[in-house]
Amino acid sequence: MKDKLTLPIFDIIKTLAGKADLQVYVIGGYVRDLIMKRPSKDVDIVIIGNGIKLAEAVAKELPGKPKVTVFKRFGTAMFKYKGVEYEFVGARKESYSKDSRKPAVEEGTLEDDQNRRDLTVNALAISLHPETYGKLLDPFEGLEDIRNKIIRTPLDPDITFSDDPLRMMRAVRFACQLNYEIFQRTFRALKENKDRIKIISQERISDELNKIILSDKPSRGFKILDSVGLLEYIFPEFVALKGVETRNGLSHKDNFLHTLQVLDNISEKTDNLWLRWAAILHDIAKPAVKRFTENGWTFHSHEFVGKKMIPEIFKKMRLPMNEKMAYVQKLVLLHLRPIALVKEEVTDSAVRRLLFEAGDTADDLMTLAEADITSKNERKVKLFLKNLKKVRQKMIEVEEKDKIRNWQPPITGELIMKTFNLKPSKQIGIIKDAIREAILDGKIPNDYDAAYEYMLKYVKENKLL
Ligand code: ATP
Ligand code: MG
Repeated sequence: MKDKLTLPIFDIIKTLAGKADLQVYVIGGYVRDLIMKRPSKDVDIVIIGNGIKLAEAVAKELPGKPKVTVFKRFGTAMFKYKGVEYEFVGARKESYSKDSRKPAVEEGTLEDDQNRRDLTVNALAISLHPETYGKLLDPFEGLEDIRNKIIRTPLDPDITFSDDPLRMMRAVRFACQLNYEIFQRTFRALKENKDRIKIISQERISDELNKIILSDKPSRGFKILDSVGLLEYIFPEFVALKGVETRNGLSHKDNFLHTLQVLDNISEKTDNLWLRWAAILHDIAKPAVKRFTENGWTFHSHEFVGKKMIPEIFKKMRLPMNEKMAYVQKLVLLHLRPIALVKEEVTDSAVRRLLFEAGDTADDLMTLAEADITSKNERKVKLFLKNLKKVRQKMIEVEEKDKIRNWQPPITGELIMKTFNLKPSKQIGIIKDAIREAILDGKIPNDYDAAYEYMLKYVKENKLL
């Protein structure tokens, strides 16, 4: 592994380790990523002894002497150097109690330290001592598991998962990110220990879930979470999408599989976490509004109800209840609009209206609408996509002409009040809406004079005053 240790810091550690005869190793995610040739932004260094002292000694040798942050209570220290985070810790042994994922910690050997790691692929260490520099220490055959693409715990998985149930989320996350299979015995332990997840804070669960969502093919992670029973625990609203019901020979599609397909589709187009969340949530209200009518299955208003369900879901998941959530809500509310639009003739005024309502999210809304086409009938998919492309083109044309995105109608409420000598009242809103609608419908051009004239006419004709 010697030639793989290219960061200059490894040389510094080697020299220091030689002088004081210290057993020092680079360990965990960094080694895994090194072997897999994945980029890695954090380096964990383990020493048999005092990690804080080593961090300080190393930092002193580096140009610019990076500032060391010490966590005395945990016996760890870290610094940042050239965009990489280095963490130093003494090798440790952990013992857990039943109701907490915070273990009692004592000093230990390298092997103790490797034993407490979550997965074999995350337990690899490389020696930095000059005598054994570059030697891989792989007691659990992690290298073999990388070769065979296997996710497996170093020790008895029932113990590893029960001790710290966050490891279950991590196991699924790595299986999804790396496209690895979960070892049978490990998989069984996920099923058997799923209830333990309740001692993990929601923030940590959501962190891992978001990493799954940001992977190349998030459906893989969701399917594993579902098959071991974790999804039911962390995201029951999503599990409720599952299943196909048939009545009078009429079936609806499985909205769980459909949504996962939409999520995978959109993940090919965007790394925007919140756009991916919009895909996850676009049909979330379907189970709640599902009806069987003489026309078959309907899901009326699922876009409105879905939008309303989102704050509660975000709150429970500890996702940010800010403009990110408002963005997801807007996309869910509008997700049917582009496709509804192509089913009719794509008129300027319909496009203008959609641009006005979607504002800055118009492009993302189109991306969602395209991802939402999941028919098995390839011809149908192609046709819809072609039509949506036309809408995109038309949006560009209309936007160039009318600048509707982030547009405000030329007549303000204040002007209406001044013109008719009115106090703030319901009428102002009515007049304002009428002007906006007239412009969006293309009844009048989008300029001040036309709007002013229309206002006078509208008030008179409707005897509003
Ligand atoms: P990523 O950086 O992509 O999130 P990672 O595996 O590097 O993945 P870190 O949080 O950086 O994750 O952790 C570094 C190493 O610490 C891991 O590779 C693993 O060996 C160990 N580790 C992290 N979390 C746990 C845990 N909950 N249980 C056991 N070992 C863990
Ligand atoms: Mg890491």
